[in-house]
Amino acid sequence: MRITETFHSIQGEGPLMGIPMFFVRTNRCNLRCSWCDSTYTFTGGIEIELGTLVSEVSGSWEDWICFTGGEPLIQAEAEEFVRRVAGLGKRILIETGGSMPIDRYVTIGNTVIDMDVKTPSSGEQDSIHLQNLELLRDGDYLKFVIKDQADYEFAREFITRHPGIRNLLLQPCFGTNVRWLVESVIRDRLKARVQGQFHKEIWGEMRGV
Ligand code: SF4
Repeated sequence: MRITETFHSIQGEGPLMGIPMFFVRTNRCNLRCSWCDSTYTFTGGIEIELGTLVSEVSGSWEDWICFTGGEPLIQAEAEEFVRRVAGLGKRILIETGGSMPIDRYVTIGNTVIDMDVKTPSSGEQDSIHLQNLELLRDGDYLKFVIKDQADYEFAREFITRHPGIRNLLLQPCFGTNVRWLVESVIRDRLKARVQGQFHKEIWGEMRGV
């Protein structure tokens, strides 16, 4: 497995916000979102033997593991890692950009999937692996990063076209007017949660938290 880093922190977004987690941040991503805050994962990194990484996870005190990146699902050993961590009795949150198939992960117990739908401002709007949408379970969720009106309209139309997905998260991009976004959601009766990134409120752009 090629990773960028591991660290202890709390989940900064979504329905699991505030829960202490042990983070495994993988190295490399297949996308290049314009507002990416993890560009340091694009290069460098270290190779770690899967057993060593699983041992480190096993020794962590947290009940939850956050498997993030970069794009964790491009790692050749991603599925094996998730299976082994779930087998430890840990719960594992998989954060994916949405371009990689999730079919092998939704059958694994103790997992929650946090999947992005890339909005126009990302520059990766067409990257979604659409078949994933039918596989999401009740506890999984979809996230849209909203920078501007075009992003909001895109998200609104997408949500309208896929009414079966229950857990929806609209995350304002840094600098986006949150009040405008909240008022848009209320006006349009959109059943989506608006939520910023908690860890940025605490630590700013600091890495490894
Ligand atoms: S998918 Fe995530 S890590 Fe990859 S470029 Fe986009 S924001 Fe960055």
